Amino acid sequence: MGGKQSAAVQDKHVVVIGGGYGGIVVALKLQGKCKLTLIDPKEAFHHCIGALRACTEDGFARKTLIPYAPTFGESFKRGTVEAIDPGAKKVRLAGGEDIGYDYLVVATGSRGSFPSKISGGEDSSVYINQYTDMLQKIKACKDIVVIGGGAVGVEMAGEITTDFSDKQVTLIHSRDYLVEGDFSPKFRRGAEEQLRAKGVKLVLGEKVTNLADLPTDGSSRCTVKTDKGTEVEADLVLVCVGQPCNSSAYAASLSDRVEGTGHLKVNKYLQVEGLDDVFAIGDCCNIHQLKLAYFAGQHGELVAKNLQLLAQGKTDLKAWPAPGRMMALPVGRNGGVFQLGSMVFGPFLARKVKSEGLFIARYWSEMKQKEPKAVDVEV
Ligand SMILES: Cc1cc2nc3c(=O)[nH]c(=O)nc-3n(C[C@H](O)[C@H](O)[C@H](O)COP(=O)(O)OP(=O)(O)OC[C@H]3O[C@@H](n4cnc5c(N)ncnc54)[C@H](O)[C@@H]3O)c2cc1C
Repeated sequence: MGGKQSAAVQDKHVVVIGGGYGGIVVALKLQGKCKLTLIDPKEAFHHCIGALRACTEDGFARKTLIPYAPTFGESFKRGTVEAIDPGAKKVRLAGGEDIGYDYLVVATGSRGSFPSKISGGEDSSVYINQYTDMLQKIKACKDIVVIGGGAVGVEMAGEITTDFSDKQVTLIHSRDYLVEGDFSPKFRRGAEEQLRAKGVKLVLGEKVTNLADLPTDGSSRCTVKTDKGTEVEADLVLVCVGQPCNSSAYAASLSDRVEGTGHLKVNKYLQVEGLDDVFAIGDCCNIHQLKLAYFAGQHGELVAKNLQLLAQGKTDLKAWPAPGRMMALPVGRNGGVFQLGSMVFGPFLARKVKSEGLFIARYWSEMKQKEPKAVDVEV
């Protein structure tokens, strides 16, 4: 963006709801160019891409929580948005505080169960303790059942069996194949073969029938039952199904612009239907594509540009292009599969692209902070 566009936006107040993969990119791109408020209930950006290794590697959890304040200073506001009033151009926080905006970016992402995602607005130390507890539970138990064979379930099983070869991990999935989405059979086969090679038992095409009765905190040994009559004993059950859209900030106040799934309806410029000054990005918008951090960040870049164009009075905004197929799926830190377009690569490239580092260094660098060293992450 040139100086002219920056000048046009400098008198505007941009409010970003949610400091996930999309929200931080908008905030980083606009920092210093306008009045900015980034709202999130947590004190740190959660790099959930590393969340599963935080369950298996000592001290890793600390690396997945990057504090907002050193990056955004006064522009960071800790809070939870409960409603949006597009007529009055303001958002309401839990507790009743109103914050006005000129442009609003909704980036509230998706929810998921621990350990893949964290919820609420706790201090980072609380989440670090939760991951440390989970690591102790995994160390202490013998039989683990992972429910769900999407990308999260595959990664979970891979992380555990890589670091703890003495555990018997069983992965149960309702489909006959692993990982939903438009992926090649070679990609799925690669993940399946690598899991089996690590000793993971795969129970495919069977649905767990007693999920509601199972303890998910490892408090007692239990039996996981499926609709095909399979029974698996478990000391620990890890539920890795579904990442529903997190619509609590707008579900009531923008109800006529929300799909049944909770996603906000957007046009190709990522503006919320009928509201030129409100954008929605990442997992919470209804663009039909894989819900990925990579795309949430690209949405963020696009919206940061479009905001500046709007502030200049321009109408020729940038449209979101249909993205190609892409996924790097770790099976532990040394394995995995990687699909780019129609090409599928094995463990070597998957390791280089993602499995080894899980993009930890990249996100500390994007947040302009120093990644903590191993010695700093003891809890
Ligand atoms: C284990 C795991 C591994 C993954 N690996 C990859 C990967 O390798 N590559 C990839 O591209 N994608 C990956 N994904 C998917 C990726 O994490 C999501 O697509 C991404 O998080 C979406 O980013 P987002 O900014 O839309 O939302 P999120 O990252 O979900 O962030 C939303 C933010 O909004 C905040 N928020 C929610 N409600 C409110 C409210 N009412 N008020 C204020 N703030 C609010 C939340 O606290 C949160 O910080 C992975 C996901 C998981 C779970």
